[in-house]
Amino acid sequence: MTPHPAPPFDLWSWLPAWQETWLAGLDPQGIGQRLRQQRLSRLIEQTLRESPLYARRAVGACHLADFQPIGKAELMAHFDDWATDRRITRHAAEAAVRAADGVADAWLGDYLVWTSSGTSGEPGIFVQDGPSLAAFDAIEGQRLLGARSAPSVSALWGMARRFAYVGAIGGPYAGHVSLQRLRRLVPAPWTPQITMISILEPLQQVAERLQALQPDVLITYPSCAVALAEWQAQGALQLTLDQLWVGGEQLSATHRQRLRDVFGCGVRNSYGASEFYSIAFECSHGRLHLNDDWVVLEPVDAQGRPMPPGEFSHTTLLTNLANRAQPLLRYELHDRVRFTAERCGCGQAFPVIEVQGRSDDALVLPAARGGTVTLLPLMVESVIEEEAQVTQFQLLHRADGRLELRLPGRGADGQAAFARCRQALQSCLDRQGAAPQRLLHGAQPPQRDPGSGKLRRVIDLSPAR
Ligand SMILES: [Zn+2]
Repeated sequence: MTPHPAPPFDLWSWLPAWQETWLAGLDPQGIGQRLRQQRLSRLIEQTLRESPLYARRAVGACHLADFQPIGKAELMAHFDDWATDRRITRHAAEAAVRAADGVADAWLGDYLVWTSSGTSGEPGIFVQDGPSLAAFDAIEGQRLLGARSAPSVSALWGMARRFAYVGAIGGPYAGHVSLQRLRRLVPAPWTPQITMISILEPLQQVAERLQALQPDVLITYPSCAVALAEWQAQGALQLTLDQLWVGGEQLSATHRQRLRDVFGCGVRNSYGASEFYSIAFECSHGRLHLNDDWVVLEPVDAQGRPMPPGEFSHTTLLTNLANRAQPLLRYELHDRVRFTAERCGCGQAFPVIEVQGRSDDALVLPAARGGTVTLLPLMVESVIEEEAQVTQFQLLHRADGRLELRLPGRGADGQAAFARCRQALQSCLDRQGAAPQRLLHGAQPPQRDPGSGKLRRVIDLSPAR
């Protein structure tokens, strides 16, 4: 067995990132804005010089607004011309993803690589360099609890604190890889005890493992936390949590209150993406503050025009000010975001944003042995993506209780894809203890939500909802 290469960590990026993040936190409008401008100028200059793709697309560009928005599909199609390091090729990155077993090994000596599917359904490979990992460390370390200055790291990752992460751990996904990296970087005796539990495990099994583990901090998706809260409310689960950290999906006010009431602990939401891991942090007033010293967000309408404060965007353009190896300028993030005009009562001067992110439903289905089982949306998505190799789909739990799968086509390819999905879903239902279901092949392709324009992939229309 070959030993794992060390996780990437660049001290000479980490020290200035930690110091600059701290200074920006003291004065977001002054020092923070100056740092943002410096980073943006350097990013534009280096990207135009060293990324053939951006250089072709933005001839003569000087300002961020000179760059046309770019999506994941285009970046993935021109992957070898995207990075500023010519060793970063799609062939090599895909091999690294296939070889990765989620333990945050350094790739090409300096990088960490992770994958995403995201709500657009187009898989992406994102390469993180030393400066971007340093920025995430500094943001998470200093702003995790919404503090104005650097809190003690040991207060967050202290000795004898037990963490449980219930998430997607079947591949090199951003959350999983980041926690594995942290676990390998922090020396004993401060090494956090983090137990990783797959979101694909039946919920009952997840609850039993958590009950035996008794974590101090539970990290998961809102849909999973809400499903576990029902177990806790019924007494089937008895956790005494210090903190519940959620992210990756929409957290409604009703769900937040439910989680607070049932678990009786602080609930911390966050907003990040594979494209930038720590976009916004939650303050003591429960608002999301944008880390705008490290990331630029532009909420825009369907024609790409900027939205006024207070109005939700059609889509959002993201510029990552930390990553120089695989630059992202005006990247289409497909989240609906709005800036609120008023200052937050917490005193933080970082801008307040609200996000309409992914909001797929959990499905409650009849169990084979009576009662019900809950299928979390991420579980359904992972099974269809990984086992059936299908990324564009929509699964509906209809009002008549039947399951309907919509795929883009109904030709020979569509039929073959449907057969793979049916088999993958059926084995998932078996594993979860659900009663057998006949899956219908939808007559329509996946439909975007008429209000938000987003493609929701798991939708519950059943009367039990
Ligand atoms: Zn605030």
